Amino acid sequence: MKDHGFSTRCIHAGTHHDEQNGGACSPVFTSTAYAFPNPAGLNIYPRYFNTPNQRVINRKVAALEGGEAAVTFGSGMAAISTLLMAHLKPGDHAVFQQGLYGGTAQFITHELSRLRVEYSWGDSVAGLAEAIRPATKLIYIESPSNPLLRCLDLAAVAALGKRHGVLTVIDNTFATPINQNPLAQGMDVVVHSATKYLNGHSDVNAGIVVASAAIITRVAACAVNFGGMLDAHACAQLERGLKTLALRMERHNRNAAALADFLLNHPAVARVNYPGLPGHPDHAVAAAQMRGFGGMLSFELRDPERVDHLLQRLRVVLPALSLGGVESLICVPSRTSHRTMPREERLRAGITDGLVRLSVGIEDLADLQADLTQALT
Ligand SMILES: *Cc1c(COP(=O)(O)O)cnc(C)c1O
Repeated sequence: MKDHGFSTRCIHAGTHHDEQNGGACSPVFTSTAYAFPNPAGLNIYPRYFNTPNQRVINRKVAALEGGEAAVTFGSGMAAISTLLMAHLKPGDHAVFQQGLYGGTAQFITHELSRLRVEYSWGDSVAGLAEAIRPATKLIYIESPSNPLLRCLDLAAVAALGKRHGVLTVIDNTFATPINQNPLAQGMDVVVHSATKYLNGHSDVNAGIVVASAAIITRVAACAVNFGGMLDAHACAQLERGLKTLALRMERHNRNAAALADFLLNHPAVARVNYPGLPGHPDHAVAAAQMRGFGGMLSFELRDPERVDHLLQRLRVVLPALSLGGVESLICVPSRTSHRTMPREERLRAGITDGLVRLSVGIEDLADLQADLTQALT
């Protein structure tokens, strides 16, 4: 499947063929009890992360990311926490990008610290490099980042890891494998919150780790102990969502690029953060390593007092948390993902009170533009 296009892989890669009836879709295997000894020589059990429906997702997403193997979890945080727990022990050190997804940052400060894993933060390739110590085992980044859509040069981060013999990990949730394949840039591990674009319909919580077979074996062995697996019904729903990922991303990319341009020229808007805009600080990096710039953008209102007015007036765009679904969602990072950050620090990081994050859905562009126009007035 790896030589096929993305749409073909989305639809066909990993399917569990229904040999009995010739059905077009993978059957849903709901058993938690499987024959032992098993005819296939596998000891199958949902919490062993090896049921037929879990394996469908593993194969499909591995094919999309160009990885050898993958393991599917019950949430993005189950994937991220298990990956980190599989690779870090007391006395180890890890380097994280500043401004990671809030849940990941909280796992680091609440759980890793409790386990006496040491860590440092860096906000550029140079900053990550400076933070590396002899005990460093892992570098972990997000690109594009939330909510300013900053992009790091993935090949440079991968080279940094190789030079120091350190594992390099990227949360590829914002870009999706349609827009960016970090393994091809030399990164070692890709993680996703499949809750977002991969499922794409705001109705399944899931996560996935993609890497070499050796890394996945290690992560899956650890996952069995933490138990954060995805059940068969949710796997089937996620499989259905994944089939339209390439098609949806085309529209997400197109709508977001058009709205970024529209907002850039709107008198009520002071600033737009979208990696596809030539004025974005990381536009060149993004253009070199991404096939599309994604469906996420943020913008700053000239008058921060107008934020509530904007949110209340919108009729199509829904004020809500989360992202990556077919429906457009809007939120205010200073009140949501970054609300616990001290104000001074938050402003220094560029997350002002008037900053609004938009997860651009796949509605008709004209309707989204009209909705924003009337609400910004
Ligand atoms: C949502 C999200 C997560 C966490 O995923 P859950 O499925 O909510 O556990 C991790 N990383 C990023 C970038 C996210 O947006």
